[in-house]
Amino acid sequence: MADKDNKVPENVPGEYYVDDECIACRLCTSDAPDNFKMTDNNSTAYVYKQPENDSEIAACEAALDNCPVEAIGNNG
Ligand code: SF4
Repeated sequence: MADKDNKVPENVPGEYYVDDECIACRLCTSDAPDNFKMTDNNSTAYVYKQPENDSEIAACEAALDNCPVEAIGNNG
């Protein structure tokens, strides 16, 4: 389970976030490209925009479910 106390600093404020357990597999940026992206050096994913509609929420929930190391949270 992701820990909101360990968010990577690049996340925008809000419900969804990536924490420091991310292994940069890029699955979330594929599942939810409107909300997750990689840093310029590809060291971690982060939330660059919180979901704004049902489609984006569903994509973010898929990313959360599919993250192999449970680094995505929705309780931020
Ligand atoms: S799916 Fe999880 S481990 Fe993979 S890039 Fe996204 S947050 Fe990181």
